[in-house]
Amino acid sequence: MQNLHLQKFSIDRSDRERLAGHPGRVIWLTGLSGAGKSTIANALEVELYRQGRRTYILDGDNIRQGLNKDLPFTDEGRIENIRRVAEVARLMMDAGIIVITAFISPFRRERELARDLIGADRFSEVFVDTPLAVCEARDPKGLYKKARGGQLQNMTGIDSAYERPQTPDVIVDGSTSSVQDCVDALCRLLRTVAPPAT
Ligand code: ADP
Repeated sequence: MQNLHLQKFSIDRSDRERLAGHPGRVIWLTGLSGAGKSTIANALEVELYRQGRRTYILDGDNIRQGLNKDLPFTDEGRIENIRRVAEVARLMMDAGIIVITAFISPFRRERELARDLIGADRFSEVFVDTPLAVCEARDPKGLYKKARGGQLQNMTGIDSAYERPQTPDVIVDGSTSSVQDCVDALCRLLRTVAPPAT
């Protein structure tokens, strides 16, 4: 580590943001499996794309099949999963992109780590607060059924903890609000707290 030096380059974040026409941001969705994170992320990206914004979705299942395919679903694996995602999100935010992340990210400490790494003025924690019973009834990937049947261990909400956010920037209820209502709430968030493009 002591032989590593931070290299300075001529083009910085503000140059890239000027080119993009908007600041880089990270919209961090957290919630149980089946809460609606991927669905809301997708609908939000469609809306932002329509508005001409540069976006990218980092999604739990996709990242777990690539960058993080070496990680188990143990507590340690989940912590490393989120640490890497936060680092990637930070790089993409620095590139001037609005990054939407869709990970269960069950532990408060890792979400705080992500906020610290990315910077509080660029990071918004969004709690997709859908009751476990609703997520379990939806069971889009059949994971709850497997977990209840003893064929899947470490399932968040069943035999692995989900630590609810205490002070999220936004709470959306994926059971009583429509996907469009959730997207509208996130677009409002982007308008109200986005730092000005420099
Ligand atoms: P997650 O990414 O949190 O695991 P998914 O988005 O994969 O969740 O799955 C959520 C499921 O719930 C989808 O089948 C989606 O169509 C459905 N759904 C129903 N109502 C909503 C809503 N208001 N917001 C998000 N998803 C919803």
